[in-house]
Amino acid sequence: MSQSDIPSQVIVPHFVGERTIRTTVKLVPEPGPGQLLLRCGANALCGSERGQFFHGCDVTPGHEAAGTVVAVGPGTTTPVGTRGAVFLMDFCGECRSCRSGATNQCLAKRGDMGFNRDGGYGVYELVHENIFFPVGNDISATEATLLLDIMGTGGHAVRRAQQTHSDIQSVLIPGAGPIGLSLLAMVKLMLGRDIPVVISDVVPYRLKLAETLGGLPVLATEMSLAEGLKHHGLSAPDVAIDAAGQEAVRDECLALLAHRGVLVAVAHGGGQTIQNLYGNFINRELTLSASEYFAYQEMPESYRLLRENRDYMNQIITHRFGVGEIQYAFERFFAGETGKVVIEQ
Ligand SMILES: [Zn+2]
Ligand SMILES: [Zn+2]
Repeated sequence: MSQSDIPSQVIVPHFVGERTIRTTVKLVPEPGPGQLLLRCGANALCGSERGQFFHGCDVTPGHEAAGTVVAVGPGTTTPVGTRGAVFLMDFCGECRSCRSGATNQCLAKRGDMGFNRDGGYGVYELVHENIFFPVGNDISATEATLLLDIMGTGGHAVRRAQQTHSDIQSVLIPGAGPIGLSLLAMVKLMLGRDIPVVISDVVPYRLKLAETLGGLPVLATEMSLAEGLKHHGLSAPDVAIDAAGQEAVRDECLALLAHRGVLVAVAHGGGQTIQNLYGNFINRELTLSASEYFAYQEMPESYRLLRENRDYMNQIITHRFGVGEIQYAFERFFAGETGKVVIEQ
């Protein structure tokens, strides 16, 4: 597509609140210095869009986007026609965090795509070149979205555990929604398919999917995490990665961890008080860690793993809809019986 084929305005979804998505007309921006204009190809739905779906949003949402470059601004080097994924955080690249590689902890970010900048459910998305991650054109836009909140966020949480534990032999994951499934998949790809991963949820559909990905399922309405571990022949896991976002669940994980164990908090929600600090926590040298999104610099490794495990990773995407079906897609997604849901354009 040449620049002359790009319309001056387009119809895009408008999240008006109260679970309603209408449409609105927006001007198509021209890329300025250091910017790329993408034609959006796919955007995955995310639990973090709950606020936008329920309460509305002025910008066009969508922070798990992939698309193709259709126009470029001055000072960029990415060729028109390049497909790639968009990193959520428009990091500055110059602050102390960015210089150390922690672009997910940027101290001067210019915005969050899809939250305060127009995102990937629109027809076009304007991005700074430094947050665009190019992929080969044999990787579909939908597959490229896997590099974001699935492989990126999942992989970062595994790395956070590895920072304080060098020989992880078992993992517990409370929560088998999209975050939990992504954690499970990345544990398998990064630590080995043989590592037992016990994963719990209250929704049988999600546990079936987890089982397909190699997880050991625990139906939380029928047994506790301790009983679930025992059921699968385990007792104390080396690592627990919380995808449930409840303090009581994280407490249970801390109580269950093996010596030198690590709890990585990923899901937002609830507070955290460390019970019995002078007992288990210090005696066993436990670590309470946190993991927020991932660093842009982790994407090449995720991309390598995606290329080697395309069929395995694609299992996480259970539903695909056109942008005209976005209202229904969100209703299905928040009803709970889906894996990852993607809007394709
Ligand atoms: Zn997300
Ligand atoms: Zn920065």
